[in-house]
Amino acid sequence: MLNYYMPTRIMWGREIVKESGHHMKGLGQKALIVTGRNSSKINGSLEDVLQTLSKNDIEYKIYDQILENPSIENVEEGAAYYLDADFVIGIGGGSPIDAAKAIAVLIKNKGLSAKEAFWSGVQRQAIPVVAIPTTAGTGTETTPYAILTDHIDQTKKNFSQLVFPVFAFFDVRYFMTMPLETRIYTGVDALTHLVESYLTTNSNPLNSYFSEEGLRLWGQCRNLLNQVIMDEATMEKLMEASMLAGIAIAQTGTSLPHGMGYALTYFEHIVHGKANGILLKPYMAKCKDVAKVKRILELIDFESLDSLGNYLLEVLGSTKIQKEAIVQYAKAMMSNSLKLKNHPDVVTEDDLIQIYSEYLL
Ligand code: NAP
Ligand code: FE
Repeated sequence: MLNYYMPTRIMWGREIVKESGHHMKGLGQKALIVTGRNSSKINGSLEDVLQTLSKNDIEYKIYDQILENPSIENVEEGAAYYLDADFVIGIGGGSPIDAAKAIAVLIKNKGLSAKEAFWSGVQRQAIPVVAIPTTAGTGTETTPYAILTDHIDQTKKNFSQLVFPVFAFFDVRYFMTMPLETRIYTGVDALTHLVESYLTTNSNPLNSYFSEEGLRLWGQCRNLLNQVIMDEATMEKLMEASMLAGIAIAQTGTSLPHGMGYALTYFEHIVHGKANGILLKPYMAKCKDVAKVKRILELIDFESLDSLGNYLLEVLGSTKIQKEAIVQYAKAMMSNSLKLKNHPDVVTEDDLIQIYSEYLL
């Protein structure tokens, strides 16, 4: 069965934001800019947005306090900052863009707490969201998801609403300032999206098409991923791979590595891309569809799963955690029915322990 929906208008090119004024104007008169503390001020993206808004007489406020892995409290504060906004512009990596989506729901549903707005089982509307990504990446600019940190449940979780950005503007200049570690972690996150989408129960010919093309492009970037210099042409390929990964997971969701990685980020403070990346090879080794796994390796140009595992270990660096913690996380994951059902084979707690253990023990 095919079921495909991706309503985000993708616009790509140098200085594209400066040409987007009429699009922004079509969304309203008042914009809330949602971004992190520093990077958008350094890479030129915030300045381009401010110029465009000013030129088009759009009022704005800037909420620049989004932290990595944004919490429920963080997005509640962001929404309260400009409750009258007509639309939200998220600038940055996955954290500010996810936060922008959550804030857009809170502004549309004024008076509701985040818990009521996101997790009461009702599909809520949002005011329009514009996404300007600067990492490659989470692909959030082409997904309807927003991952928030819940300190009460002590985990990260999707906000259970479907908010695709109306526009996604890509300008390679904004990505060139990524520190090497950020480029590696976010680039590996994109790889895990491509692989998880391809191998999930929900996979179909369309998302597989996007995953295969994304994997092929990713394979062309991988030798430069951990080099100090990445040229613009390669960065654009990585951006495209990440965007295609977003389109793919928008259709299928993610699977075991993402579900298992959230505990590593919440409790062990391992960055999102590294948390998934370190689980990727042992997860792929558990997948029974060996033909698909082989196809992935061909597309990203690795001879074997072991060579992929060695590569990931080299670029991500090794981290060790306690055996007791692994057992705890595996137990908790056994109750994450949403992610478990995305995996085509039956998984036991021992399987999960093995996946966690290969590189982390
Ligand atoms: P991030 O948390 O948005 O940003 C990480 C760091 O990189 C921040 O310090 C940020 O600085 C900096 N940074 C971002 N762009 C930069 C640039 N161009 N130059 C220099 N520094 C830059 O990282 P992310 O990996 O992109 O996002 C991770 C979040 O996305 C996680 O919460 C994850 O769960 C979520 N995610 C969402 C989806 C989805 O579909 N919604 C999919 C996968 C992951 P500033 O703080 O100063 O901006
Ligand atoms: Fe991810």
